[in-house]
Amino acid sequence: MSKLPFFLFDSAENKKIEFKPDNPDKVKIYSCGPTVYNYSHIGNLRSYVFVDILRRSLKILGYQLDQTMNITDIDDKIIRESIHHSVSIEEFTKPWTEAFFRDLEKLNIEKLEHYPFATKSVEEMVELIEKLQENGYTYEKEGSIYFSIDKLKSYGSLSKVEATGIISGARYDADEYEKDNVRDFVLWKAPKEEKEKSWNTKIGNGRPGWHLECSAMIRQIYSSGVDIHTGGIDLLFPHHENEKAQSEAAYPNEKFVKYWMHCEHLLVDGQKMSKSKGNFFVLNDILDKGYDWKVVRYVLLSFHYRTKLNFSFERLNEAKVSIQKIQNAFNRISSEMKSKNIESIRKPINHSEIISCRPQEFALDYFQNFVNAISDDLNLPKALASIFDSIKSINTKLDSSSLSNEEMIDVVKYFYQIDCLLGILDFTNEKIDNLSLSENEILALIENRSNAKKNKDFKLADSIRDELKAKGIILEDSKDGSVKWKKSE
Ligand code: AMP
Ligand code: ZN
Repeated sequence: MSKLPFFLFDSAENKKIEFKPDNPDKVKIYSCGPTVYNYSHIGNLRSYVFVDILRRSLKILGYQLDQTMNITDIDDKIIRESIHHSVSIEEFTKPWTEAFFRDLEKLNIEKLEHYPFATKSVEEMVELIEKLQENGYTYEKEGSIYFSIDKLKSYGSLSKVEATGIISGARYDADEYEKDNVRDFVLWKAPKEEKEKSWNTKIGNGRPGWHLECSAMIRQIYSSGVDIHTGGIDLLFPHHENEKAQSEAAYPNEKFVKYWMHCEHLLVDGQKMSKSKGNFFVLNDILDKGYDWKVVRYVLLSFHYRTKLNFSFERLNEAKVSIQKIQNAFNRISSEMKSKNIESIRKPINHSEIISCRPQEFALDYFQNFVNAISDDLNLPKALASIFDSIKSINTKLDSSSLSNEEMIDVVKYFYQIDCLLGILDFTNEKIDNLSLSENEILALIENRSNAKKNKDFKLADSIRDELKAKGIILEDSKDGSVKWKKSE
């Protein structure tokens, strides 16, 4: 009961299809996570916000989740840097892993069920290689083990790269390589120098290749495959193609991934944001300039995940206005209910509460439009447009005081639902210092006054200003029409 349909764009099928998980009460999702050798830039964070939007949307639609994001703490760069700084890879990666989790927390990204580390899954990776050896997909060269792509007929079926005509045995060792390099890839790397971190295992001394870790972790956590696998679009080839190849070659009778979803890039001046290009911002760069985390979250989620998003500070400023509009509409309802002594309802915090808090009557249409947008391949621009439409309608109703008590409660439910996705609204009505009002209440009154002025009801506008003054709040109207408030001396 209560699972609403969800349609997603599957990268393998190259079209939108209906989502049918193995078990809707335990949807298995695996997302490629960070390589922890530096701060995440906000391009990386876009792909994590996308995972958060997928998670929160599925929860609103009634699904329950079992999600994983891996932490890549073995990789060429990490090994290079840890040798350079004369520290172990654990010591080197620890502060970057902590910084990653801090960024997620700052952006109100929900915690997932599992965050496995590559260094803790080496045993599972070795097992996978043994299976591939058994099934005849590998060869050895100078102590390293490679996957032979010409042995697997389906190679290329995910990313549609052309794998025919590839010289057998042309191979690649590095963790990163160019898109048009369709080659055998390394599963296990023999150490090249003495200081290099390596593991002494049944298949020899060495360390795993990057692609291998995700295949092994999926197996480690879910015993077989997953419903959805996500990542940035740059991971489609070779990383995901190679993950798929390894897993399907090792376990040919199992479905590795049912649906693949890829998030487009964040750009700066039309160029992909990346560490190697140096055109990146990390979250703290933006917060240090005085921007609130909410505007960063809003910008990252407000574009459709399959469209490129050109980052600019102007977008952050626009986001501030949009967030305030949504917040103000909630604040108005909240104040109205308070003034009428209508008991509000609690914000839903778990699966059954989210479902039982779905609007039933007055706000049902608003909710339906919102749900239709997210269930259509996470169409956030459409979802946001529907939110602004509903706010217009709610404000008109409030202007004419035509909402009944029950209708107002239904609207509160609607706001709770949209914030289950947006994660940016403030529902607390904490009083500020020794004032009798909370910031939300002050903003709601300012909004009421602006509306009164728009409707040429200057008497009402003045009375709101006086009411605020009596409560110790001074308003300052600026030329651009915005209103600031401060406490009176
Ligand atoms: P990395 O830490 O480089 O392994 O990347 C972590 C995640 O960020 C991967 O899913 C990448 O595809 C994604 N990613 C990297 N650069 C960008 C970008 N400019 N925009 C969106 N996602 C990105
Ligand atoms: Zn991966």
